[in-house]
Amino acid sequence: MPSEPVLPRIRPEIAALPPYRQGKQAGADAFKLSSNENPFDPLPSVLEALRSSTSVNRYPDASAGRLRARLAARYGVQPDGVHVAAGSVSILQQLALATSAPGNELIYAWRSFEAYPSLAFVPGATPVAVPLTDDARHDLPAMAAAVTDRTSCIIVCTPNNPTGPIVTQSEFEEFIAAVPPTVLVILDEAYAEFVTDPEAVDGIATSIFEAHPNVVVLRTFSKAFGLAGLRIGYAIGHPRVLDAARTVAIPLSVTAQAEDAALASLDAEDELRGRVAAIVERRDRLAAGLRAAGWRVPEAQGNFVWLPAGDETMEIAQAFDEAGLIVRPFAGDGLRISVGEHESVDRVLGIAASVVRNLPQAHSGRALA
Ligand code: PMP
Repeated sequence: MPSEPVLPRIRPEIAALPPYRQGKQAGADAFKLSSNENPFDPLPSVLEALRSSTSVNRYPDASAGRLRARLAARYGVQPDGVHVAAGSVSILQQLALATSAPGNELIYAWRSFEAYPSLAFVPGATPVAVPLTDDARHDLPAMAAAVTDRTSCIIVCTPNNPTGPIVTQSEFEEFIAAVPPTVLVILDEAYAEFVTDPEAVDGIATSIFEAHPNVVVLRTFSKAFGLAGLRIGYAIGHPRVLDAARTVAIPLSVTAQAEDAALASLDAEDELRGRVAAIVERRDRLAAGLRAAGWRVPEAQGNFVWLPAGDETMEIAQAFDEAGLIVRPFAGDGLRISVGEHESVDRVLGIAASVVRNLPQAHSGRALA
């Protein structure tokens, strides 16, 4: 019997965490609706930008200067008020590391983006998860009430992944007025381009970071712009706050290819916005169809819908799986279905309707309207 090797000591709070798990990959004839990706193929102009990008034997520009200048001009801020990183998840981690240490508390809504709890654990801070309301929205008064003198950082996710609702402009204004200016507030707007609710907060359009320099707004090229595989996202905020993120960033992790593809995507924005409109139309059809079948789908403002399936979640995910629909289940809670290819919408609606007919009566109160 080979004996167990002696392994290096790992911090217990890290050893206790599960490593990141990706949404399941799809087989040849299945639809992958598990990672909130953009179902459209890259634009030819984006592929051309990749092809003619700087040769890969050279390091990229560490400051992503061209993209920062482009975004700064677009949003009317200084280039130092823009920070570009290898996905907006990198910026979340940088800001958590820059603000939070053992003894601090990092507040977020729950259920929300799965990366949030580990943002607190990694620097040894304490995660404080504030439950969503019954209609799957952020409970901002409860989040403000959870602030203590140990709070270092609060994340507000709008639209909320995985449940879908937005935070309104007035809700956010009331919230930010109640939070001490020494606490960093990250407004995670990864799905902003899919939002159609006019009441929704838009941290960039309202330049909220000017009146409140403790707010940093996050955006990404992964979703609406379809560059998830290239890893590129950005933050807009006060230059000195973003300097802290730049200080802890791993240098040179934004590739020249990602920067060139992002610039080409901004050049092709009208075309990409057309695709976003198609995704939004599918999303609305999906949400309406699911509600008509009896599902209590919360407001869906991202590129995904949420089925509150409770105890039947894993069973229902299995039924989708067998029908060639790979979705993202959260055991005991619900499942998130990304808006994918045009043909996937009717398939999702068909399975969701048949599953609902087979649900045990005893549990239908949770899953149904
Ligand atoms: N924030 C939220 C709410 C997300 O859902 C995601 C991706 N799933 C991200 C941030 C990270 O996106 P990326 O790192 O690809 O920019």
